[in-house]
Amino acid sequence: MKKNKVIAGLSVLALCTALATPTLATNSPNGKLYNENQVYSVKGYTDYTQMVNRLQQIEANSQGRVTLEVVGQSNQGRDIYQARVGTGEKVVLIESEIHGNESTGTEALLSILQYLGSSNSPDAQKIREEITLVTLPKMNPDASELDRRGNDMSWEEVVAAFPQLADAAGPAWNYYNNAIIQDRDYNGRPGFDVNRDFNPDLNYVPQASDFPGNSSKAGWYITPESQTVRDVYKSLQAEFGKVDVFIDLHHQGQYYVEGTDDLVTMSLSADFVPDPDTPVGAKYAQYADNYNFEFSKQLNLAAYNALQSLGENSPFNNITLYQQNLDLPGTALGSFALNGSGTVLFEVRGQSHTLGHKKKGQLVKAVETGLYGIINGVVDGSVEQLDASDYDSIPKTAYRPGI
Ligand SMILES: [Zn+2]
Repeated sequence: MKKNKVIAGLSVLALCTALATPTLATNSPNGKLYNENQVYSVKGYTDYTQMVNRLQQIEANSQGRVTLEVVGQSNQGRDIYQARVGTGEKVVLIESEIHGNESTGTEALLSILQYLGSSNSPDAQKIREEITLVTLPKMNPDASELDRRGNDMSWEEVVAAFPQLADAAGPAWNYYNNAIIQDRDYNGRPGFDVNRDFNPDLNYVPQASDFPGNSSKAGWYITPESQTVRDVYKSLQAEFGKVDVFIDLHHQGQYYVEGTDDLVTMSLSADFVPDPDTPVGAKYAQYADNYNFEFSKQLNLAAYNALQSLGENSPFNNITLYQQNLDLPGTALGSFALNGSGTVLFEVRGQSHTLGHKKKGQLVKAVETGLYGIINGVVDGSVEQLDASDYDSIPKTAYRPGI
């Protein structure tokens, strides 16, 4: 167990290093950090065409257990796939690559789908009986093909789709245009951070007066990618009554386990909007009956415990809590938490432009292990026996070593 120390002067860290990346030392004592002058290859990761082929193979070899469905199209017309396995009453929805330069989640999902589609083991059978696993791998495929955070869409295209926005005061605040962000040039090829385009009101219709907005306000479902995920979520609500669990798979910068020199392998979080039952969360009061922070904490603990069980002093021991006390209703996690899903954020170390496919095996294993921890906890009901207050004992994240 790592030392827990209070971190003084912790700077604000937005999701996935978001818009302002804290400056990182490039020469750490242990030599583990990246060289920011070097370009790293991401060819070791599954690209869109390879993913589609792999999903089709998994479906074909699953004896009907895995069903593949095109649930929408990206702005550039790429099909967005849903792969579903299991027939249980509890629904676990997982998406990957809402940010296209965050690739490990897709690899983990493909591996899990392969296993649950083909294995006759009692464990696999039990999972298929108890839950319905719905996955949206590479849900922002245009961004994935560009190996960048934002999708591939202009404000002009948004206005063409929603003419009422012609009178808006300006483009959405999360529009990347004429800028270089995370080493990617958006000049002439703009896009939006899709993970700020969600709204807890799943029936929201864009209005000019809600633009440009900001990070503590809800998004608008102006991108086809967020619309697709929203529509899947609503269809699952209609079919099952609720989406029990929603997990979003991301990457972040390279940080440290507080009080140590150890690089974080993965951060977790259950906290994306203030609790509607608290004064600071009062603006979300209409969602108070749905919001279940305790269950989200238990789900996070199930992932954390599974990773800890891989052994002390292993990289899988270097798990921290992501920044807490956020107010991000425009994220998929924030919106779906307010709609009653237990929610979990995975933030794996290093984005593709900083780490390439180095550490791929280790990081994919971390994601897979955490996901199986959650899945198994939901399957056997043990997740609801976990003490939610233990969530606060997960080590915090630090931006410099040893603090
Ligand atoms: Zn991300």
